[in-house]
Amino acid sequence: MNRILLASAFLLAAISAASADELPSAAQTSAATTPATAPKIKLVEPHLHIARSNIAGHARIALTFDACMGQADERILSTLVRERIPATIFVTARWLKHNPAALAVFLENPDLFELENHGQNHIPAVDTPTLIYGIASAGSPQAVKQEVEGGAAAMVASGIPAPHWFRGSTAKYDLSAIGEIRAMGYRIAGYSVNGDGGSLLGAAITEKRIASAKDGDVVISHINQPTHAAGEGVAKALVDLKAKGTEFVRLDDVDDMGDDKTTE
Ligand SMILES: [Zn+2]
Repeated sequence: MNRILLASAFLLAAISAASADELPSAAQTSAATTPATAPKIKLVEPHLHIARSNIAGHARIALTFDACMGQADERILSTLVRERIPATIFVTARWLKHNPAALAVFLENPDLFELENHGQNHIPAVDTPTLIYGIASAGSPQAVKQEVEGGAAAMVASGIPAPHWFRGSTAKYDLSAIGEIRAMGYRIAGYSVNGDGGSLLGAAITEKRIASAKDGDVVISHINQPTHAAGEGVAKALVDLKAKGTEFVRLDDVDDMGDDKTTE
């Protein structure tokens, strides 16, 4: 009974928060290291914008997709390839291990896809023990370093160029972890438009959110949930944006401005 109540409470919290990054299922959240009472620490969810085109009818937008765990969403991947829409993809070591076919498509299209680091095991990059949406944080500077370096090592071992952008699980950080990750040579990828609410939103609202992105926006959504309705909305929004004359760029193509000392 308690377990059911806990799971329901978690689900409600997850949906109402409409987290930018995907959350694991309730069953996966009770790690052995989870503290009984989480201390209050200051977390930030940084914004990121790109240099605008400042040309009417020619909005410049950076699409970013997280591949947290699970599978590849062919609805989105095939649309990106067919429409020749560039994007930045954040992959975890976990996701890479299970999706060699999708990785091959990314690597076959280097003009479209910039691949960046989403960590080793999709653990929030926060260097103090705490819970974020019920997920245990890395909990120490060493564990943050392992999450970042483990993600990068798996990428390089898979034939991907060494990454230099990092986005942590849940897209939340404490300021000291931001400093540590920056000191490792990374810029940290926030966002300005939460496209799919951690892939939990419906197709119509997802399409509307992404298609309404403005000049200079960085959109976050997910490419790893082929059974969720959100992905259908993402794929439609890509076509909508292209029809409006959008210029799609990767994070490395333009100047980027992040707050909380994430890029400067
Ligand atoms: Zn993620």
